[in-house]
Amino acid sequence: MARYTGPACKLCRREGKKLFLKGDRCYTSKCAIDRRSYAPGQHGQNRKKISGYGMQLRAKQSARRYYGISESQFHKYFLMADRKAGVTGTNLLQICESRLDNVVYEAGFASSRAQARQFVNHAHFTVNGKKVDIPSYLLSAGDVVAVRERSKSTDEFKGIVEANASRPAPIWMEKNADAMEVKIIRAPEREEIATPVEEHLIVEFYSK
Ligand code: SF4
Repeated sequence: MARYTGPACKLCRREGKKLFLKGDRCYTSKCAIDRRSYAPGQHGQNRKKISGYGMQLRAKQSARRYYGISESQFHKYFLMADRKAGVTGTNLLQICESRLDNVVYEAGFASSRAQARQFVNHAHFTVNGKKVDIPSYLLSAGDVVAVRERSKSTDEFKGIVEANASRPAPIWMEKNADAMEVKIIRAPEREEIATPVEEHLIVEFYSK
């Protein structure tokens, strides 16, 4: 299925919650959820009571949209999570968190996950010293993500790193702001993941 390229705020309004898809704007009074907290479209204000299946579907869609992942890729992650030891829902979120585009965003090298995805596509990063331009690349403990030398001196990166300096990197990674690089220390615990979903609903959705 093609990736959604329409207005990001519509996705939040559809899910009825902030998915933080537009960087700084999400924290201002311009946020569409704060101004119009009903679903988009002609019948958006006539929201009916949601069924059990509907809640599971919305949880799955929320997580997918939060990370900007396609349906097929997300299902693949669920199957990976299900095969791993431990709690499937937590495993699933840990896999999503370990994507290169997510780490680039969380480290403050981009203002949103969408921008992080674009930066990775444009080959601005290395992993363990080698150029990687695949946003879905999965990182493990010990991996080091760095802004490429040729990109470090650009005004674009300097500006973004400065603008995001006040946003601390998660404690499961170690950031060196001066070197513009970040090292993955370990997988995040569930309470260290801010994704606004109840992941057990996603597990129920795929387990039918
Ligand atoms: Fe738009 Fe961000 Fe608000 Fe979502 S959280 S509605 S993306 S401004």
